[in-house]
Amino acid sequence: MLYSRFFIPTQKNISNDVKLISHTYMLKSGMIRQEASGIYSWLPLGFRVLKKIMNIIENNHVLNHINQILMPTIQSSDIWKISDRYETYGKEMLRINDRHGKGLLYGPTNEEMITAVGKQYLKSYKDLPLNLYHIQSKFRDEIRPRHGVMRAREFLMKDAYSFDLNENDSEKTYLSYFKMYIKIFQDIGLPIIPVRAPSGEIGGSISHEFHLLVDSGESEIHYDESIITDNFSEYNVEDLVNIKSFTSDYKNKEQNKNLVIKKSIELGHIFLFGTKYSKPFDILLDSKDGKKFYPYMGSYGIGVSRIPAAIIEKFNDNKGIIWPSKVAPFDIIIINLMTDNDGCSLVSTTIYNQLVENGIDVIIDDRNERAGKKFADSELLGIPIRIIVGKQYIENKKINVTLRDGSYEESIDISQLEELILNLRKKEND
Ligand code: ATP
Ligand code: MG
Repeated sequence: MLYSRFFIPTQKNISNDVKLISHTYMLKSGMIRQEASGIYSWLPLGFRVLKKIMNIIENNHVLNHINQILMPTIQSSDIWKISDRYETYGKEMLRINDRHGKGLLYGPTNEEMITAVGKQYLKSYKDLPLNLYHIQSKFRDEIRPRHGVMRAREFLMKDAYSFDLNENDSEKTYLSYFKMYIKIFQDIGLPIIPVRAPSGEIGGSISHEFHLLVDSGESEIHYDESIITDNFSEYNVEDLVNIKSFTSDYKNKEQNKNLVIKKSIELGHIFLFGTKYSKPFDILLDSKDGKKFYPYMGSYGIGVSRIPAAIIEKFNDNKGIIWPSKVAPFDIIIINLMTDNDGCSLVSTTIYNQLVENGIDVIIDDRNERAGKKFADSELLGIPIRIIVGKQYIENKKINVTLRDGSYEESIDISQLEELILNLRKKEND
């Protein structure tokens, strides 16, 4: 991608009302644009990050045999009357009437719709287990939308739903989602903490949330500091499920004094709710022994569009964003400091072509701008690897390679570049 052709509307001045660092940097780097209170467009740079996150989520769902579908944002109010949530959901639900006066709503979540899907297609125990998910916009008319995409009104959620034969099977399914969530956040590059959450209205069910510790977080968790957050590989999933860390509204006597209370951001929430929806929807399936039964269900959410903001809250400095490599909008930025010099332009283009051929996401800053502006923009944008072509190239054929997180800087010969990039990328993936 040529920087000169890429739409990156960076902003110097943003509203004084913007308080959070992630909100500030997302606006300054031109990732998002506010369209109305709590409603945002994703501009090219932001959308690249969002798509990388969605890819990681989708790949993990494929590995776990979870089917991707796409349900609409608009739902019929009829299905919400069956579950009795049409009245109880409250003011967060945007209710609409169509021209015939029929009640519609913009879905805040999809339990009702997925149960209706299950009711039509599931006939017997042979059709189970069934796992479906989608990544789709939700609308919740939050009383105080704020901090940009962190607490929006329209936001992207990944929501998966499971149908199982019985409680025991549904608990196994729940465990596999739990495990997958740990893996997803590891793949993204976020040190996440699973915590136990209130299990909702149906007794005996389980629920967990997945939180990122940051001081600016709106949530609060009671957290066992002995848990190593960036390396869960040494834990059994079963042990983690029974973790003694809790959301602050988990009212349980089990809480002990060894827990510290820390601010956090909720990025995921999973729960089992048994037959809470299959019963009112009357999904009666044939069992093996000729009887009828209600399938056991669960739902598994991730706040997809909240994740870029959470990452920025976690990884930034006073110059801008520091993207973890897996979700960075580009892997590498080539900064040509002397666009009017043929030698510099030629070598920049050669490096660019070579990287693109190797499947690396690269942007080349070919703008006719001052060096200071180019450096500042690359720092704000937070692209992990920066290759600088300029005076040093003209004088002694060297280029400068730096990592955005400050952990590496070297002037190298062009011939060493390929090996260096390979090594840097290998180091990142370890
Ligand atoms: P919160 O406690 O932050 O209001 P929630 O518990 O109401 O979230 P869930 O119903 O569990 O949210 O939705 C699943 C995920 O969607 C959450 O874990 C969160 O990451 C994300 N999410 C929820 N509300 C919003 C919002 N207003 N803006 C952006 N993401 C959201
Ligand atoms: Mg929640």
